[in-house]
Amino acid sequence: MSEDFYDVLGVSRDADEDEIKKAYRKKAAEYHPDVSEAADAEEKFKQIKKAKEVLTDDEKRQMYDQLGHERFEQAEKRGGVGGGGGGRGQGNPFGGMGGGGQGNPFEDIFSQFFGGGGGGGRQRNRPRQGQNIRTQVTLDLEEVFEGVEKQFTLTRPEECSECDGRGHPAEADVNTCPECNGQGQTTTVRDTPLGRVQQTQTCRRCEGTGETYSETCSGCGGDGVTREEATLSVDIPAGIRNGQTLRMEREGAPGENGGPKGDLLIDINVRDHDDFERDGDDLYHRLPISFPKAVFGATVEVPTVGGTTELEIPAGTQSGEEFRIRDEGMPHLRGRGHGDLYVQVQIVTPEKLNEEQKDALEAFAEAGGESVEINEGFFEKIKKSF
Ligand SMILES: [Zn+2]
Ligand SMILES: [Zn+2]
Repeated sequence: MSEDFYDVLGVSRDADEDEIKKAYRKKAAEYHPDVSEAADAEEKFKQIKKAKEVLTDDEKRQMYDQLGHERFEQAEKRGGVGGGGGGRGQGNPFGGMGGGGQGNPFEDIFSQFFGGGGGGGRQRNRPRQGQNIRTQVTLDLEEVFEGVEKQFTLTRPEECSECDGRGHPAEADVNTCPECNGQGQTTTVRDTPLGRVQQTQTCRRCEGTGETYSETCSGCGGDGVTREEATLSVDIPAGIRNGQTLRMEREGAPGENGGPKGDLLIDINVRDHDDFERDGDDLYHRLPISFPKAVFGATVEVPTVGGTTELEIPAGTQSGEEFRIRDEGMPHLRGRGHGDLYVQVQIVTPEKLNEEQKDALEAFAEAGGESVEINEGFFEKIKKSF
């Protein structure tokens, strides 16, 4: 009953579209039911229309050539030739599994040509936000104490300015990707003991666009993206801590298909400080004081991040004793007030004494019932003992 479409139209297998259309017009005129006297004119006319419809559609013709007439017709009866619309499981890479067992061996072959139907074709052009990218900004404790607007430079992906992210010159010719026949994805079908397993992947040749171009952009090599140096500035809030992250929206990698840029994540690195150790919003400082000050008590000057302050050392302070100065620590992030400054006193042993000092110290020792023998190794010994 059914006849090969090329025979129906009377054209060769390598006939081009013009030849096919010409042959169709001729045959259609001959077999049009309104005109023809032949008994099977209507049936014949339908066949001719069908043949023309299939052979002038690149996708269908390719499928027809590969499957042959009978298999093509069976696949077509399964519905959907030309529509690509069917309701295959969205995004399920194993959508065709078990298909063989259900008596429709063509489902898998079919979906190979029409991208698995469903949303595949649309999804690949959906706008997508670009990737987030990370960078690091290093700050001094003073900068974090005050809060600062910090400039930094990074290299990041940007939309190619030569092609506006298209990857090809505007005047390049567009071709249907030969790898995926314009579907943007390729499907492999394997027979397994469980049935036929089909896997769909984004086409590597066209990266899912379904199109290739006669020319590639020389600026970006076709990626649509180049790596560029950018100088940005970010507001560093006072009190931020080492290891925290700031986010600059829409400063990341360019989006796809007109989607927004990703975000830029800035990891904060705060340099160690010579004078202070930080624990949360509290600061710790080691303050050297002389032995007499520790003994008699004194008012001493203590450095803070912002300047200096004063601390009362009581008489009889031991080395290692700790004093708290309220509100001289780091500012609370996005809040009011500051942490505290803890001052740990370190009593300094003098390394050099003049005669007067030596005599005084000797007298001090003897007054306490100690006998000290002053020799060359004296200061060495004292240093060691601390
Ligand atoms: Zn492709
Ligand atoms: Zn480019």
